[in-house]
Amino acid sequence: MLTHRANLQQHLPVHDVVIFGSGPAGHTAALYSARANLKPVVFEGNQPGGQLTITTDVDNFPGFPEGIMGPELMERMKAQSERFGTRYSYEMCQEIDLSAWPYHFKAGGEEGYARTVIIATGASAKYLGLPNELRLQGYGVSACATCDGFFYRGKVVAVVGGGDSAAEEATFLTRFASKVYLLVRRDKLRASKIMQDRVFQNEKLEVLWHTEVADVLGDKHVTGVVLRDTRDGSTRDQTVDGLFLAIGHEPNSGPFRPWLDADETGYLVPSEPGTPRTKIPGVFICGDVQDHVYRQAITAAGSGCMAALEAERWLESTQHALKAGEAV
Ligand SMILES: Cc1cc2nc3c(=O)[nH]c(=O)nc-3n(C[C@H](O)[C@H](O)[C@H](O)COP(=O)(O)OP(=O)(O)OC[C@H]3O[C@@H](n4cnc5c(N)ncnc54)[C@H](O)[C@@H]3O)c2cc1C
Repeated sequence: MLTHRANLQQHLPVHDVVIFGSGPAGHTAALYSARANLKPVVFEGNQPGGQLTITTDVDNFPGFPEGIMGPELMERMKAQSERFGTRYSYEMCQEIDLSAWPYHFKAGGEEGYARTVIIATGASAKYLGLPNELRLQGYGVSACATCDGFFYRGKVVAVVGGGDSAAEEATFLTRFASKVYLLVRRDKLRASKIMQDRVFQNEKLEVLWHTEVADVLGDKHVTGVVLRDTRDGSTRDQTVDGLFLAIGHEPNSGPFRPWLDADETGYLVPSEPGTPRTKIPGVFICGDVQDHVYRQAITAAGSGCMAALEAERWLESTQHALKAGEAV
């Protein structure tokens, strides 16, 4: 049941569809909403284009047999939805009030109401915070083994982390790399027993205990890492061609968490599994902000499409019911 907003500030715009986030999920949601003539507004946030703007080659997005650079793919997605009338703003959602409909939001200097909201704010991979690690992102430093593992055929790589995803990504990388070092700060893995067994049984995989990365080496591409022993602080150089971070992701769900269901790590949770619906009518979620399992551009885009179709149908049925004087 909708709680209608009592006092609408007349000078503020009321949009049919407001989308937060401009990664593959947000752009796809915008494309579908724009083609349904809903004139969506996308607030791009502090990383226009999303996570793919910090990578180089994307070889697994269908339709690009030669591969495509991440930033170019995102520019093309944006241009495609602009062609059908999407308006983009570089602002970031700071505040949203989902207590009454239409929903009130503030995004930087912009403020208004939204009849439907699509949340596509993604997730941010955690990095160590080393200056050279940042500089070499996309040039040997990666936070996605599924995405970039293929580029390391016959090469030596290191994976940082001790949990399930680190163990899984290190094991996955042995399909391509000639040698994989798993860098673990303590003397044990946090990964599940079954994942640990896979690590220890894999001949290409070597665990370096009590080890952390002190620096990343390389001019244009990673050539090695400086490893520090966590017990005595001593350091040594290790030659590697790639460094993979597997120390977790942070979903960008902050402004929405007071209103919507989230799991213990902050990922938004749908009200009905397998759909983009939430417990708030007319509010939909898509992309990595609600997906800690698949985390791919194509899955994010697919769920963006689902969110837009849901928003369109919800608007249609709600407006029809309102016109007919029915309770919604
Ligand atoms: C290094 C790396 C390489 C990758 N390579 C590949 C690959 O080759 N193939 C592949 O399929 N996948 C790859 N991925 C994964 C892929 O990038 C993600 O799965 C995908 O980008 C998720 O899309 P998304 O739209 O959900 O969110 P994101 O791409 O995370 O975008 C989130 C968007 O939300 C915005 N935002 C955040 N907070 C707010 C807010 N409060 N208000 C408004 N906007 C906000 C951000 O500015 C950003 O635009 C890679 C990931 C990384 C990190």
